[in-house]
Amino acid sequence: MLIRFWGVRGSTPTPEPKNSRYGGNTACLEVRLADNSLIILDCGSGMRGLGKSLQDEFGERPIQASVYLTHFHWDHIQGIPFFTPFYRRGNRFKFHSVLRSGSELKDTIEGQMANPYFPVNMGVMAAQRDFSKMEKEPIRLQDATLRSAPMNHPQGCVGYRIEAEGSSFVLATDTEPGSPMHDKALRELARDADAMVYDAQYTPEQLAGEKKGWGHSSWLEGVRIAQECNVKRLILFHHDPDSDDAYIDGLVMRAQQEFPNTWGANEGLRISLPDGVVSHTNRLGGSERRMDRRYHVELPVRVMWRDSSGEPREADGVAKDISRSGIYFFVPSAISAEEPVQVELVLPDELTHQGDMRIQMLAKPVRQERVVNTLREPGTGMAIAAALDESSDEPPIARTESEPTTTKSHSR
Ligand SMILES: [Zn+2]
Ligand SMILES: [Zn+2]
Repeated sequence: MLIRFWGVRGSTPTPEPKNSRYGGNTACLEVRLADNSLIILDCGSGMRGLGKSLQDEFGERPIQASVYLTHFHWDHIQGIPFFTPFYRRGNRFKFHSVLRSGSELKDTIEGQMANPYFPVNMGVMAAQRDFSKMEKEPIRLQDATLRSAPMNHPQGCVGYRIEAEGSSFVLATDTEPGSPMHDKALRELARDADAMVYDAQYTPEQLAGEKKGWGHSSWLEGVRIAQECNVKRLILFHHDPDSDDAYIDGLVMRAQQEFPNTWGANEGLRISLPDGVVSHTNRLGGSERRMDRRYHVELPVRVMWRDSSGEPREADGVAKDISRSGIYFFVPSAISAEEPVQVELVLPDELTHQGDMRIQMLAKPVRQERVVNTLREPGTGMAIAAALDESSDEPPIARTESEPTTTKSHSR
């Protein structure tokens, strides 16, 4: 089973640069079973990207999918008018919902395209579309079993569990803890899951205060459920529109302290079950969506650059995330440099047993954000996302996985 995230944001799309690593599109997940059959979970604005990807993949061949909706709030249906496979004859989609059935389900989904809200109605969608109620009992879909559980959310919502090929995946979003019936149902749904995607819109503090009753949850409740129910991987999802990348990093890291196998859902994240390979699309430095594994680290970093008057400058900080094409680090103040900066990572003697080992790479800062009291270090600083320079004659050393060309130095 392969799960791919196309939209991870809650409530409303947030297309802003400061959200670009996690992404601003609302909820949409693609699930592929071993026979390549396709399940779509929720139809938020991320569905547009999924549609383009499917058209690239299938070309003239017909696309068939089962679509399961958690509920009908905008952030879970607003991608439907922009999903181009709906407009192509020969494609076939089966919509399912626990909450509504038949024509009522059809009207709920298609109502968003009624005059005057959209220039065409769903009648111009040439693909065959069927609408049916999903019963509360588990159902079979090809070689998979799907079941649902009620979530605690205004106007209702359901979570889904998909079991196939010996692994299990749970989507539990738009739910608030504190209702015994829902809490119990969610725990039954989550039991022993290989991966659980969970609503982490708010902080535990917000959830206990101003956001109580809004129908969402926090990373802390996700951690509790994961620990109680033997969930193997926790993926924080439905990020608040006001949470930017640096803020979400902080939430993810707090959750990781309690439950190390926690990830923050971002657009492009893929989870392959049962082996559990989790990869992130790296979105640093442009629109190219390339699959890339990110390594969470906490290593001293020294950054060296020349300022606009050509004076050499340097700053010490902490590197947090490294991938083949980018690095994310914190330094005390902003870096203003036209040229790529030199980033030097220090692998301490405790790790190398050969003295401190320094790894140098060139990186171009693509985004800098002021952060306050984040990531366990008190005080303020700058969070900097930098793209590793691929044009340099000197290859960035950290990108070589087999035989890193390192410069060594021994410090006392
Ligand atoms: Zn939502
Ligand atoms: Zn909702």
